[in-house]
This record gives sequence, C-alpha cells and structure tokens, in this order.
Amino acid sequence: MLNVPSQSFPGPSSQQRVSSGGRSKVPLKQGRSLMDWIRLTKSGKDLTGLKGRLIEVTEEELKKHNKKDDCWICIRGFVYNVSPYMEYHPGGEEELMSAAGSDGTDLFDQVHRWVNYESMLKECLVGRMAVKPAFPKGMLPKSQVTDPLAKEGPSSPSYDWFQTDALVTIVIYTKQKDINLDSVIADHQDDSFRAETVIKDYSYLIHIALSHEIQEDFSVRVVENVGKIEIVLKKKENTSWKCLGHPLENHNSLIPKKDTGLYYRKCQLISKEDVTHDTKLFCLMLPPSTHLQVPTGLHVYFKLTITGTEIVKPYTPVSDSLFSEFKEPVLPNNKYIYFLIKIYPAGLFTPELDHLQIGDYVSVSNPEGNFKISQFQDLEDLFLLAAGTGFTPMVKVLSYALTNIPSLRKVKLMFFNKTEDDIIWRSQLEKLAFKDKRFDLEFVLSVPTSEWNGKRGYISPALLSEFLKRSLDTSKVLICICGPMPFTEQGMKLLHDLNFSKDEIHSFTA
Ligand code: FAD
Ligand code: NAP
Repeated sequence: MLNVPSQSFPGPSSQQRVSSGGRSKVPLKQGRSLMDWIRLTKSGKDLTGLKGRLIEVTEEELKKHNKKDDCWICIRGFVYNVSPYMEYHPGGEEELMSAAGSDGTDLFDQVHRWVNYESMLKECLVGRMAVKPAFPKGMLPKSQVTDPLAKEGPSSPSYDWFQTDALVTIVIYTKQKDINLDSVIADHQDDSFRAETVIKDYSYLIHIALSHEIQEDFSVRVVENVGKIEIVLKKKENTSWKCLGHPLENHNSLIPKKDTGLYYRKCQLISKEDVTHDTKLFCLMLPPSTHLQVPTGLHVYFKLTITGTEIVKPYTPVSDSLFSEFKEPVLPNNKYIYFLIKIYPAGLFTPELDHLQIGDYVSVSNPEGNFKISQFQDLEDLFLLAAGTGFTPMVKVLSYALTNIPSLRKVKLMFFNKTEDDIIWRSQLEKLAFKDKRFDLEFVLSVPTSEWNGKRGYISPALLSEFLKRSLDTSKVLICICGPMPFTEQGMKLLHDLNFSKDEIHSFTA
C-alpha cells in the first residue's frame, strides 16, 4: 500500500498535534513532519547561512531579520534563524513571525516551555546576544591576562577566566559549532599551561605561565552546540589569584595549524604485546596533566633520542581491539593510547622502541594529518585498501564508520600482506565480518604458501575493479588507501583510471 499522508497533516492523533494550553495547530504540508525536520537537521545542510560560524548578535542586527525568509528569534539569550523551520512548525508560520527579529522567550514560555528547542533548533543557532554574561554563581570577578595580539575580527575565538576558592576555570569561546573533546589538546608542564583548540585548519592557543601552582590533573568540558570549552584547573592553595599568569609564545592567537610546530609530552609505556611475529601492540599512558584524544584518521609523532640525536617518526593510534569502539561507554578521560608497530630489525627507530622497558617514556606529539570526519557524511560504501601496517589508520576508520554512520551500507577491506603470518588481527577481522553483515573482508598475499586458497599477487586493475563495486549505482563512496608509498601511489593511479574522483579517495601519507 502507498504511504499517502492524510490531507490534514499531521494526523489527528499524531504527537505533533499534542497541544498545550488549547493552542491551535495548523495543517503542515506533506514532507514537513517532525521526522522530516530531524532528517533535514541531520543532512549537513547549512541552515543558518553562516557556514557553521557562530556570531554575537546585537539588538540592531536581530531587528533586521524580521521577514519570513530571513527570520531570527532570540530565546534565552541565544539567537536562532527559524526561516528553515517555518514550514515544520506545528503552531504555524504566523506564530513564529510574531516573534520575528525580537526576543521570543516569553512567547515561547507561554506556548511550549516543554519543547526541547535547544536540540530541535541546534542547527539553526546563529549565536549569542551581545550582552555581558553574568558571572556564574560562586565565582569571583576575573582579571584578564594581557592579550599580546588584537582580535582577528568578529569570529576569532576569545577566552575568559573565573575562579572559586579551589578552582580556576578557563573558558574558551570558539564561536564554532563543530567543536568536541577531540578539538582540544591541553597540557600543564612545569608552570606553563598550554591549550590548543583546533578549529578547521587553524589552532587557537592559550599559552600561559600560570601565576600560582595548580594540581596535576584538570578537566575539560565542551558545550558543543555553542562551541564553548571549559578547562577546570585545581588550585594547589586556596588563595585568590589576581591574574591568570603571563602570556607565553602565541598566547591568545589564532594561527594556521601548520605553523604551530609539534608539541610533545612524555608518555609512559604500560604494556607491549606480540600481535604477529614482527608487530606489537604498544600501550602508552598520557600524563595526568594532559588532555589529548587523537581523532579518527590522524597520526602522532614519536620522539626518541637515539645516540644523542632526536629522531621523530609518525605512528597511528588504534583501539586496543577491533571491538573496543563498540563497547559502551568509551571514557572521555581515557588516558591510554594504543599503537600497532612493526619492528624492523635493521630499522633505526623501531628497535629502540622495542628496547623500551615497561615504565619507560617516549615523547608523543599532538595529532597531525588531513583526514576529515566530514568525509563520512552521508557515506554509503566505504572501501579500505591496506598493505602491511598501512592497516593502522583503517582500525579507527572502520570502527567509526560502523558505529556512527547511519547511512552506511557496506564496508569492504582489502588487506595486502606477504604471508598469512603477517596479517595483523586476522581472527578479529574475521570475527567482525561474521558479526556485522555490512563488513566484508578480502586478504591478498604476495608470497603465499601453496595451501593458500585466497587471492594472491599485488594491487592491480583486475583486483580493484572486482572489489570496488558500489552497493547502488548512485552510492556515495569513500576509498581509503594506506601502505608502503609505492603501493599507495600505484593504488591512487589505478583508482583514477577506474574513474573515481579525488573527493572519493583518501590516501594516508605523512
Ligand atoms: P627505517 O630505518 O625507516 O627502516 C625501515 C626498513 O627499511 C628496514 O627494514 C630497513 O632495513 C629498510 N631500509 C631503511 N633504509 C633503507 C634504504 N636506504 N634502502 C633499503 N632499505 C632501507 N608504522 C607502524 O608500524 N605503525 C604505525 O601505526 C605507523 N603509522 C605511520 C603513520 C604515518 C603517517 C607514516 C608516514 C608512517 C607510519 N608508520 C607506521 C611507519 C613508521 O613511521 C616508520 O617508518 C617505521 O616504524 C619504520 O621505522 P624505522 O626507523 O624502524 O625503520
Ligand atoms: P610490507 O609487509 O612490506 O608490505 C605489505 C604488502 O604490500 C606486501 O604484500 C608487499 O608485497 C606489498 N607491496 C609492497 N610494495 C608494493 C608495491 N610497490 N606495489 C604493490 N604492492 C606492494 O609492508 P610494511 O612493512 O608493513 O610497511 C607498511 C608501510 O605502510 C610502511 O611504509 C609505512 O610507512 C606505511 N604506513 C603509512 C601510514 C600512513 O598513515 N601514512 C600508516 C601506517 C603505515 P612484497 O613485499 O611481497 O613486495
């Protein structure tokens, strides 16, 4: 039977008709249900017209946006562009327009105080009203660190700080929506405090020699929908701070990420387990005075001093197993980072790493790399081409896609190795393919034994064209490739020959 909506939509018993205070509801057009609205908000469409930027709105500015196709409303100090929502509003357009260009808090409270507008209108958030925020209860007035650099226009981030007897809270206003705990890397080393907030291709830095001593650990909270970060430091002594401290290099500045340089902290080796005959799972612990979560698809640099010289090599964090990402909850304050590392007996760095004893330290940098989680948006088919330890970035990519991408139909991994003994986490991969029908697996060996029944050889047009079949003709596809440089280069060439576009391919390189 065809799913034809009733003429008057929503239907008489629909939740959208549940009215408070006898408020009248208007018939909505077809395709304008709450579910349709939720779909639109999840579609990634820019509903504010501000490309994810949050702005401070003056009263004069608010007043200007008073038309149906350009309608801003303020609710409890936050301004929303409700034009895209007009046709979905169960109370009708007229009701929304009565608050156009003004503060609609009272009207909102009269009509539907129970509605979770913060989440319903999350994607319509334009920013905050430009008024001085009141001091949170129990907090003392701040005094500001001297800012060496002037602000770079209205959208550049800013910060503030507050204190109680026991705590100092640094608040960073990023004015961006897509900020989460991965975006902030914070370290307290000696008496200096450094917090780097990654905003697209830029870093906003707080870098201060603190005026007083603090305890080792601190916490980081992010209010995602308003792009606010709170870093709560614990004072060593309950005295009142007159200032936060003295600015250090690049403090309070927004600089291209590529110009920030690599920043390291010492991590302790907690465990080392054999995974194959030459590859080991290393577990490192971050210091308590560091907040760092490596985003999916990014790598870090290790630094060791080898015969008097500092040597740096990149490594890609994985999870402790292929199934750990599916376990709930993943603790936000997770202090452990795992790495699958192949030891080359004739190599420079890996034999040194292998000689580290449990309890020894290695310096680990901030995350680097150009993979963007937005590449997963609306993804339907994900193809992973990995050779040897080129499997490492695929671990988090695979788990992230299977756990977080509702549109995903298929994930296929083609994993190239010399022999069966070289295959990293083979039984885990086979278990995952058995458990999750969306995941398919193909091993290809270049030096197989005569008993090997699977695919053999090297990356080739024949292997790829058979493997890279879209689940639908129109499927949105992403192909990730990683391995020895000549393997990746060869693979990229073959993918272009097969007419995959640049946007459909991501190669992991340094
Ligand atoms: P190297 O000294 O670089 O030697 C490696 C091998 O090459 C040895 O067998 C050596 O004998 C041989 N070799 C060296 N020089 C020559 C030469 N001139 N001619 C012929 N042969 C030579 N690796 C991982 O194991 N896990 C990861 O998660 C990981 N992530 C990475 C992420 C990125 C972004 C990149 C670029 C690389 C990553 N790597 C990873 C590789 C890693 O960075 C190192 O390259 C690797 O560990 C080898 O380091 P090494 O110093 O021990 O070996
Ligand atoms: P490996 O065992 O030497 O090779 C894995 C498979 O790839 C083998 O079957 C090998 O075949 C094949 N292969 C090698 N070169 C090839 C080429 N030119 N064309 C086609 N196939 C080729 O691999 P590994 O020692 O684990 O090395 C992994 C590589 O991945 C390292 O170079 C590392 O730097 C890189 N890596 C990069 C990242 C990143 O993010 N950029 C992350 C992790 C690892 P044969 O050996 O039989 O020829």
